[in-house]
Amino acid sequence: MAFTFESVIGLEIHAQVNTNTKMFCSCSNDSFGLQPNKNVCPICMGFPGMLPVINKEVVKKGLAAALALHCEIPAFSKFDRKNYFYPDLPKGFQISQYDKPVSQNGHVDILINGEKRKIRVNRLHLEDDAGKLVHVTRNQAKLDERSNIKGWTTGDYTLCDYNRSGSPLMEIVSEPDMRSVEEASAYAQEVRRILKYVGSSKCDMEKGMMRFDINVSLKKKGQEEFGVKAEVKNLNSFRALELALAYEIKRQEEVLNEGGKIAQETRGWDDEKGETVSQRSKEEAHDYRYFPEPDLPPLTFEKAAIEKLKLQVKELPLDRKLRFMKKLGLSDEDAGILIEEKDMADYFEIVVETSKDSKKAVSFMNTILLKHLNNDGTPLAECKIKPEQLGKLIKLVNDGVVSNNMAKTDIFEGMYASGKDPEKVVEEKGLKLVSDTGAIEGICKKVLEENPGPVADFKGGKQQAFGFLVGQAMKASKGQGNPKIVNEILRKLLS
Ligand code: ADP
Ligand code: ZN
Ligand code: MG
Repeated sequence: MAFTFESVIGLEIHAQVNTNTKMFCSCSNDSFGLQPNKNVCPICMGFPGMLPVINKEVVKKGLAAALALHCEIPAFSKFDRKNYFYPDLPKGFQISQYDKPVSQNGHVDILINGEKRKIRVNRLHLEDDAGKLVHVTRNQAKLDERSNIKGWTTGDYTLCDYNRSGSPLMEIVSEPDMRSVEEASAYAQEVRRILKYVGSSKCDMEKGMMRFDINVSLKKKGQEEFGVKAEVKNLNSFRALELALAYEIKRQEEVLNEGGKIAQETRGWDDEKGETVSQRSKEEAHDYRYFPEPDLPPLTFEKAAIEKLKLQVKELPLDRKLRFMKKLGLSDEDAGILIEEKDMADYFEIVVETSKDSKKAVSFMNTILLKHLNNDGTPLAECKIKPEQLGKLIKLVNDGVVSNNMAKTDIFEGMYASGKDPEKVVEEKGLKLVSDTGAIEGICKKVLEENPGPVADFKGGKQQAFGFLVGQAMKASKGQGNPKIVNEILRKLLS
């Protein structure tokens, strides 16, 4: 008989802190795409006698993130050595935090089926990153220019790149509060948004700035006690996170239904095969021989400084999204697009403020503006149209000065290319709607003369004929006749 299981999921998220320099030395914190081992020094290479100095920005940004995750900040915190040997770790230990992390006991709200759900955060602590290993197999080696190095061509080998070694990380550990792939993914995405909002991490997934370890166990439906968990380490996209979770849940279900036991182990994710694979049995804390880092003084935090950091985030992205939906009438999807990046949401708010029309603001931003920026690969910060200008353009439409169609095409294009005010573009291109009743009356009279058939039809009661005549008059005005006035005058002339 097959049982019905419920999955229990906890996430450990590593995010690179957005600083100029590494955690304990003055090497750059940005070495993506750089030649291997060009961004290192004796400190981040762990040479004997090296002395680390904590980068204050790392602590500040870590605390800002912790506060946005509703964590408590203790008065005192310290670093610990986590000892293990692996070729990507030149010091032979990681500088991490064991029993006195910079923050604890927080939570993240996520939205599931339109309802807020709280996922508790156990802690956010700070630690340094390891280097990167590149495992090269013989087949690849043939294609790899480095295989020209004498002696390397005989078998598989591993390359060590220490450029990333010593980069600052925040590790965010959740409580096992998630019960489905959907919840886990929503949580991971919400954490990403929050870290980006506070500016604590860029969370660029493609550059490996955010990585996930997932912990999964199953329990029979209704059972209180949790089952044995397996951990899948180092997932670097939301897609991999979702696939690995779904795979792991199914795998555990099968093992349990066959009467087997789940091994407490660390697994990896094989992206090509779409499988999790056993790597090693789970290590315990004592395996790491944690002890206080003797080369770094403990951290102490002043209440006033923490209060100041708290002010940095006035509104979290999820609250902003809900406000956009409830107060401004946006759809879930539109609000989601706009709040994804903080600068986009800020821009939108100014457009709404200037135009007093949130509907048109969404329409102008999510359709044309975003399309242009995406096509050109231009970040919003470099967009020539300022939000006040886009707001003014919408106002011109609503005031009947220009047509909606013109605004979204010629006028928008002109503003986008030049950064000029909408009024200026309208004037230069001569795109103002003609509201001069005399001129429009002239056009309308001509249209009626030239279309005796439709005129007769209209008088005979055919309403569509009127639409046709309006169309002709608009065409005759080259699209610039104010449609409202064209309508009025045609009705007057026909009655
Ligand atoms: P470990 O002793 O393996 O380090 P922790 O208690 O530190 O375990 O938790 C590590 C992660 O695993 C946390 O995110 C936690 O929420 C999650 N976790 C703990 N127990 C379970 C469980 N039974 N099932 C799923 N996840 C769990
Ligand atoms: Zn260095
Ligand atoms: Mg643990």
